Amino acid sequence: MSNINLSEPIKIFLDYSTYNLVPNAGTISATSLLRPTRQFILNKRNPTLRITPPLNSLVASRVGQSVHSSIENVLKNDKYMDRRYGKENYIVNPTEDEDLSKYLNVFYTEIRSNREMEIDGKTITISGEFDVLHNGTLEDFKYTKVFQVMSKTKDEDYKLQLSIYRWLNPDKEIKDIAYISFLLADWKAYESTREGYPPPTESKEYELYSLEETEAIIRELLTQKLADYSEEDLPLCSDKELWMNIPVKTFKYYSKIDSKRATKVFTGDYSDIEANDYLAERGTGVVRQYTPPVIAKACNYCSVKSVCTQYTDLFNNGLIKED
Ligand code: SF4
Repeated sequence: MSNINLSEPIKIFLDYSTYNLVPNAGTISATSLLRPTRQFILNKRNPTLRITPPLNSLVASRVGQSVHSSIENVLKNDKYMDRRYGKENYIVNPTEDEDLSKYLNVFYTEIRSNREMEIDGKTITISGEFDVLHNGTLEDFKYTKVFQVMSKTKDEDYKLQLSIYRWLNPDKEIKDIAYISFLLADWKAYESTREGYPPPTESKEYELYSLEETEAIIRELLTQKLADYSEEDLPLCSDKELWMNIPVKTFKYYSKIDSKRATKVFTGDYSDIEANDYLAERGTGVVRQYTPPVIAKACNYCSVKSVCTQYTDLFNNGLIKED
């Protein structure tokens, strides 16, 4: 892709990333802790590869970033918040000595927190910034694709990410249940009758790990990521990390035998029965099983693929499909 037709303002917008702005070098962010060990280590060994994607491939990421900024701006817009809640009923990012019992709504937004951990005699700082904490309930926003929500491949990561944010903020009372609110970039109204197809925006509940469990998981992840692997011994990214999830059982109904496009798609355990019932109701057409291709989708978003031998192997085996 070329950036040739991009105006200067849009180049600035696309070039500017707040996600990786961590205060000190030597700090590990909560989100990078969740990355596959192989990717994390290759990134550390090849730091310049982080800035190679062409600007016009960063649209979704920057729109996602803008969603976060907009939510923060709304919460910090006194005029709007006063009108919505009444001045005396809410507070945003209170100071430590504030009496919070006076307020019906207490919000913290985009608070970066750091906490240290000793690993093999080294002090490591973990850093993370949650999106919103409202009356003790943590919430993060994800501008993502329908595939991510339907495949549930990242659910474990989301639960851990939210748990790490709680661990990073021991001074705040944070409840056991937290939320990820999804805003779906590629949501399509005409697909919305499909079983399991999510709404365009949805807040999903996650039960957090206890503080002790979270600390043990962080320790284990840090130990893996700081280990001194030789190139050949680097752990391989797992199928789950590569989003090579087991395909969802899928059956498609076609209104005519020679139709190329399905009229209705059924997914899930009973999709064959549902599709055949539908066919019986219509009295015409055909039902066919569909097997979605299993490919290493995560590699498409990985900045170290040019130096990754696992990527080359996957590519040579036809398991990569560039977006
Ligand atoms: S290119 Fe693929 S296999 Fe290699 S580190 Fe990235 S995600 Fe893992």
